[in-house]
Amino acid sequence: MIGLIAVTNAGRLAARRLRAAWPDQTRTYDGPAAQAIARAWPQCHSLVCFLATGATVRLIAPLLAGKHDDPAVVCVDESSNYAIALLGGHTAGANALSARVADVLGATPVVTTATDAAGIPGLDSLGWPVEGAVAAVSRAILDGEPVRLESAQTWPLPPLPPHVGAAGRYGILITDRVVPIDMHTAVLRPPSLVAGVGASRGVTAAEVLGLVTEALAEAGLSPGSVGHLATVEAKGREAGIVTAARQRGWPLITYPASRLARVPVPCPSPVVAAAVGTPSVAEASALADGGTLVVPKRKSAMATVAVARVAPRGRLSLIGLGPGARDLLVPRAAAELRRAGVVIGLDQYVDQIRDLLRPGTRILASGLGAEEERARVAVEQARRGHAVALVGSGDAGVYAMASPALELAGDGIDVVGVPGVTAALAAASLLGAPLGHDHAVLSLSDLHTPWDVIERRIRAAADSDLVVAFYNPRSRARDWQLRSAMDILARHRPAATPVGVVRAASRPGQRVTLTTLGEFRPETADMVSVVIVGCSATRVVAGRMITPRGYRWLRT
Ligand code: SAH
Repeated sequence: MIGLIAVTNAGRLAARRLRAAWPDQTRTYDGPAAQAIARAWPQCHSLVCFLATGATVRLIAPLLAGKHDDPAVVCVDESSNYAIALLGGHTAGANALSARVADVLGATPVVTTATDAAGIPGLDSLGWPVEGAVAAVSRAILDGEPVRLESAQTWPLPPLPPHVGAAGRYGILITDRVVPIDMHTAVLRPPSLVAGVGASRGVTAAEVLGLVTEALAEAGLSPGSVGHLATVEAKGREAGIVTAARQRGWPLITYPASRLARVPVPCPSPVVAAAVGTPSVAEASALADGGTLVVPKRKSAMATVAVARVAPRGRLSLIGLGPGARDLLVPRAAAELRRAGVVIGLDQYVDQIRDLLRPGTRILASGLGAEEERARVAVEQARRGHAVALVGSGDAGVYAMASPALELAGDGIDVVGVPGVTAALAAASLLGAPLGHDHAVLSLSDLHTPWDVIERRIRAAADSDLVVAFYNPRSRARDWQLRSAMDILARHRPAATPVGVVRAASRPGQRVTLTTLGEFRPETADMVSVVIVGCSATRVVAGRMITPRGYRWLRT
């Protein structure tokens, strides 16, 4: 419960906004501030005080018990300009709460504690378990001290500041092995191990976990590096296995027996084959996605376990930056850009988001044209284990880099797609609602597509009375195609059909032109324009291009 304490009108209004935003999580404490805080203190895990910090400090001082008992306290000033994490930043969650409060009130969150001691700046985004001298190493990174990064393999890490590298008194060690803990090293546990499990019906979670723990311990491996448990489909609902996985927070992945039967294992068993349809459950499911066996099958009364180590998988994110304006770049794209160690794209697009990248990001920008080369480099970097972001304008999958990259990618890397606002949508919203019914998107570039194919598609769109959005409508070298395309459409649609041309949507130099098929002039469009041609139902209302929904067909 979040207790809200306000004594002024402005404070009460702001408190009401929080209450409306989080009705089930908040309680208002009325009356004089001192009494209200005293009542709220034992009942709430967090307080938001719409009071000066000084007043709040004096009022909470007599109630303070200790870091692990006190609630989080966030102060909001009289004008709701700031949400200040006053007490319990890490432990009680005041830092996080100040950000949430700031979001609702349109305030700026103020946090004064150093980095979250539970994470190492940059690397905390991985969500990997960490052990050892995390606070000391985090501090060293923040202070700019040299920090050693040791890893036997390349993991898809986010960018790290330049002083994290080959040498330093402090260190980050990435390993799945049990290692002695010292005062200067933080140990990060990558998800490199797969525990394959089998069990007889009725096995307990304790037996499964006991066997996994024992197997790992004997091999000197850390349970923190177990990425998931794996078993055969028939055991996917075995309560002991399901509970064991849930207790440790390990995802449980199941495979059909037929697939496991094809995995070569050191200890196949004809008895098991007769019972479940695969000669191995534990070893085969540990090895089902490749990797090498590090703990061969071992047994307890009712369970079997084997452990495999899998190679790191690189990560390729395909990121559309939207049409241009920063606020049309989706937040997930911004997060992915900060997550990537390597960013690849056309220089003009990389420039557009350079300020979002973390220090230490490797940038591979290149000039126009080298599209296939960029896709190839991106995939190659990801195959080497890096976290790579391939960026482009609009949506990365629309006339863009996602297709060539994915054709090369293969199944050895993880791919993450982040949708972007494609040019047709940015243009449509400026024109009105021209895409309100069925539409076709066509590129007029005959660089990669023969003109007769393009022409056939234009004719089909014309024939079907589809609204058409033309990408790549016209460039200096391709100056006749747009006229020719419009002529085809004009044969099937009235001259009064609305046509919208949007140049540089959401960028400097944006221009929106509304005309008709009869009066259209190709010179209004260029390389950075989208041309949207209405269908027979499209009209202009109050200067806005609208294609009605299909309701009139439903009515007839
Ligand atoms: N992946 C991009 C499209 C790349 S093809 C996307 O999803 O938007 C390049 C074409 O996109 C340009 O020739 C132009 O037709 C269109 N385009 C890209 N950005 C645009 C913008 N801001 N305004 C208008 N058209 C744009």
